[in-house]
Order: sequence, then C-alpha cells, then structure tokens
Amino acid sequence: VLEKEVIIVGGGPIGIACALECKKRGWNYLVLEKGALTNSLFNYPKNMTFFSTSEKLEIDDIPFISKNPKPNRDEALEYYRRVATSNTLHLNLYEVVTSINKEDTLFKIETNRNHYITKKVILATGFYDIPKLLNVPGEQLPKVTHYYKEAHPYSMQSVIIVGASNSSVDAALEIWRKGGHVTMIIRGKDIGERVKYWVRPDILNRIEEGSIKAFYNSEIVEIKEHEVIISTPEGIKNIPNDYVLALTGYQPDLNFLKAIGVDLSHEENKIPKYNSETMETNIVGLYLAGVICGGMETHKWFIENSRMHAKQIVKHIEKSKER
Ligand code: FAD
Repeated sequence: VLEKEVIIVGGGPIGIACALECKKRGWNYLVLEKGALTNSLFNYPKNMTFFSTSEKLEIDDIPFISKNPKPNRDEALEYYRRVATSNTLHLNLYEVVTSINKEDTLFKIETNRNHYITKKVILATGFYDIPKLLNVPGEQLPKVTHYYKEAHPYSMQSVIIVGASNSSVDAALEIWRKGGHVTMIIRGKDIGERVKYWVRPDILNRIEEGSIKAFYNSEIVEIKEHEVIISTPEGIKNIPNDYVLALTGYQPDLNFLKAIGVDLSHEENKIPKYNSETMETNIVGLYLAGVICGGMETHKWFIENSRMHAKQIVKHIEKSKER
C-alpha cells in the first residue's frame, strides 16, 4: 500500500493543473491516469481544431504558443506533454482507478496495479469515455462508431453522420472533402448553435448546394448492414449506407461517482453536488475538478472556465486542518 497526501484521478488538462499546484507546495501527490497522457485529447479527431484560443487553454500561466488563430489537437498534445514532462509531474499512466472508499479520515484507492491510502482525492475524470447512445437496433454493428478519427477510411463510402454539433459538422465536412458521400441526420431543425462561428457558413453552404445531404427533424429508427432506416417529417425512408458515425455527445461515468458516494442532483442533468468555492463534494476531502462538474450538462464546463478549479481546491486543502 502506497501512502499519499493527494491523489488526482485523471491526467487531462485539469488533472495536470491540479498536479502543478500540488507540486508547488511540495506535497506528496500522484496523478493516476487510465490511458495515455491527456487521453481524451489523444482520442479527439486527428485534425480537430479547438474553439478556444491557445491562451485560454493555458494552465498556471505557462505560455501555450500556437501558430494558428485556434490551436489544433497536435499542438495541444505538445503543450500539455511539455508541461507535464518539464515539470516532472508525478503521473502514473495506464493505471485505472477501480474504487475509492473512505474509511475514517483516509481514502483507500484501488487500481488495476496497486492500492493507495490518501488524505485527499481530486476527481478530474472528464466525460469523454462514455458516448451517449442512440439506443436503436443495429447500434452494435461494427460499421457504427461514436468516435471519429480521420476521413480516409470513409472516402467513396456512404456515410451517415448523426448530430449537428461541432464533432458532427467537422466530420461531415472533412469526409465530404475526402470524397465520402455524407448524409446528416439531425434531430433538431437546424445546425447546432454552438458550432464554431467560422465553420457554420461552410456547412450551411454545403447543405444548401446539395453536396452534403441533411435530414432535419429526423432520427434513426434502425441500422442494418447495408441500409439505415430513418424517420423524417416526410415519413420513413431507407438510405443505402456503409458507415454510421453517431457523434451525439459523451457523458461522465455517473455510476463511478455514485459508487464513491458523491450526491448527484435528481434532475435529468445529474449534476454532482459540490461547493462551488472549494469544489469539495458531500464527501469531506473529495473534490471535483474540470468538466466532470457539469454531470450530463457537458456544454457548461471547458478547459477555459474550469482550469481555475485547481487553485480553488488546493487553496482549500491548504487551509484544512487534517493536513
Ligand atoms: P479530460 O481531459 O477528459 O480528462 C479526464 C481524464 O481522466 C482522461 O484522460 C481519462 O482517461 C481519465 N480517467 C477517467 N476515468 C478514470 C479512471 N477511473 N482512472 C484513471 N483515469 C481516469 N474545451 C475548451 O476549453 N476549448 C475547446 O476548444 C474544447 N474543444 C473540445 C472539443 C471536443 C471534441 C471535446 C470532446 C471537448 C472539448 N472541450 C473544449 C471540452 C473540454 O475542454 C475537454 O473535455 C477537456 O478534455 C476537459 O478536461 P478535463 O481534464 O476536465 O477532462
């Protein structure tokens, strides 16, 4: 059993920000990350461009230099990697936290590799690991994916893209430009309001000229091996299809939070309960940081407005008497 003062679960941008704050104070801390460093960013589409400018993605005022107006995934990986390596942060990668239990004043943490005992826990586990499912027959077919990586495999193929937010729009445009035949299935009546302002006219014009087909107020009813059945305002339609990209968003692991004993709101958005000043949950000594704070409301928190959680939490730990 290894003893620590603070264990940070999740090595995303916000987990790294928390680690920097612990390091500054000389605490015995450790970040446990189940995948690669900044695993969510690593799994983003290869050519993804952030909607934030680089200075808004900076942590602890360490300059993030990008040669583009908005940085791309590669630049962000480079930035957070350099922050972690040049500060020699204590990070264990490919180590999954499987349970967290509080006994008296200490937390017992189990992972796939080790057991830990710690005084404080910061959960910065994000929301990119669990996709929001369509829950339609055929969703388990191998041609269906909830994560888009790059366009090449979809060239000269009939591709259905579900959703109308940034992920869906970026994928639709990129695949169409690489010779894919793209049909968008959109539940609402328009392209999403949060779509990056410089991308929106591009997708609207492609739809208007007919290069990309779009069915509004429509939903998938069933996915079959060579076709997809959709429900549209004009009735049911069968569309020949090779691949389905269901880019309908992601959600935090609420069962993990519940198992630890973190209270969630009873509404549909299941927002975890925490003190917005200290970020402490109903479990004394257990804090939330980063985009996990929004529960199912995954559009509320970003890097740019949650990076300050690190300082709030560490300030509170500093003050707390248990240390
Ligand atoms: P994450 O980066 O998701 O980090 C959580 C980490 O915890 C992951 O690495 C995960 O592997 C790890 N983890 C989870 N469970 C466990 C476990 N049990 N044990 C160990 N490790 C675990 N925000 C912006 O500010 N600007 C943008 O332009 C922007 N663009 C975005 C584009 C996309 C496509 C998406 C999905 C999000 C975007 N966001 C953006 C939102 C937000 O910034 C990201 O979600 C960001 O990664 C959140 O940082 P985080 O550290 O809170 O969580």
